[in-house]
Amino acid sequence: MDYFLTEEQQEIRDLARRIAQEKVKPVRAELDEKEEFPWEIMKTLAQADLFGLYIPEEYGGFGGGAFENCLAVEEISRACIGVSVSFAASGLGAYPILLFGSEEQKKKYLPAIASGERLAAFGLTEAGAGSDAGGTRTTAVADGDGYVINGTKQWITNGGEAEIYTVIAMTNPARGSRGASAFIVEKGTPGFSFGKKEKKMGIRASATRELVFKDCRVPKENLIGREGLGFMVAMKTLDKSRPGIGAQAVGLAQGAIDEAVAYARERRQFGSPIASFQAVQHMLADMATQNEAARALVYAVARYVDSGAKDVSRASAMSKLFASDVAMKVTVDAVQVMGGYGYMRDYPVEKMMRDAKILQIYEGTNQIQRNVIGAALIKEAAAAKKK
Ligand SMILES: Cc1cc2nc3c(=O)[nH]c(=O)nc-3n(C[C@H](O)[C@H](O)[C@H](O)COP(=O)(O)OP(=O)(O)OC[C@H]3O[C@@H](n4cnc5c(N)ncnc54)[C@H](O)[C@@H]3O)c2cc1C
Repeated sequence: MDYFLTEEQQEIRDLARRIAQEKVKPVRAELDEKEEFPWEIMKTLAQADLFGLYIPEEYGGFGGGAFENCLAVEEISRACIGVSVSFAASGLGAYPILLFGSEEQKKKYLPAIASGERLAAFGLTEAGAGSDAGGTRTTAVADGDGYVINGTKQWITNGGEAEIYTVIAMTNPARGSRGASAFIVEKGTPGFSFGKKEKKMGIRASATRELVFKDCRVPKENLIGREGLGFMVAMKTLDKSRPGIGAQAVGLAQGAIDEAVAYARERRQFGSPIASFQAVQHMLADMATQNEAARALVYAVARYVDSGAKDVSRASAMSKLFASDVAMKVTVDAVQVMGGYGYMRDYPVEKMMRDAKILQIYEGTNQIQRNVIGAALIKEAAAAKKK
């Protein structure tokens, strides 16, 4: 399908595709096996200037948006989403600064994130606050010219590897969700440490760790926006980044389709390539059709998000929900097309199927995406009735 990409967008896609083919594909199984953070690949992506695609030129970025970022994320994901999430999570960590940060904060932090010199990460989740971010227990208490942060964030992508963290903490717990605020915390700040690296089912190249704050003092200048805006910062950040999860899903599913089609042409049973059996062709046809629908939705939503439209939550949730459900189904079917070989680690679809599951969980589970979409539909219907 032709999505009418500009010349620049085609160049971004081709560059990311080349890096994925040459640098990611050859090492993805080893990174998965060793659970090793892909620093060499991060450096290559930085040298290719891909970290700043969505960051304005005045802060050292390319000046594109979520769409350009999705194009790069999709191509890297086609090879490995353990790698692409390490790349994309830096954007997730940067969005609070980009969307709500002061001019000083943008000038101080965004150029290093845009160049890939410093990775970022986003810390919202806690042991008791997953889907229900309102259950956040981490506190930030105003003290003189700063805030003192105490608490533990759980399962933070790029935890320990990133240098710049945007973190949600309660400045006024009595006010519930209106009592949260967002802060920038740099690696190396006294009182800020990391838990052990988690052992995961998939995306094993990525690093997932706790962020531990014990009387961690940050200056007042590190507050993003103003006190009480924390959950708004988090929700608007997720609105921007969820099409990126959709792009991870589309790339991953495409990688699985590529493998399944190639295998079906080679594998012979009953004297013929299995690709000649209509049952197999139909599976491949459904996989490709569903993923093209996911791609079309993700691209449309990313462009919509970049348009500056005010309320993009519903569309953003739809792109993440639909594409990740497709990726799960497509990767399961890719294993099926490849039979017992697909189940073996010698072939990449085994890893792809394990990797796909996380897409239905992080940045809000798919049940939560359905809640967001359902609530928006009901709100719109109620507003239309009032008119
Ligand atoms: C590998 C990995 C990386 C991650 N990276 C980050 C990161 O970088 N930053 C960060 O802040 N977080 C991160 N997370 C956390 C992730 O966003 C949460 O795991 C996710 O939001 C779900 O929270 P939970 O796991 O506590 O599940 P729970 O909220 O406990 O949910 C358990 C089940 O109940 C369902 N459920 C809960 N509430 C409802 C409801 N109201 N309606 C319907 N169903 C509901 C859920 O859908 C799910 O099926 C990461 C998680 C993982 C596993």
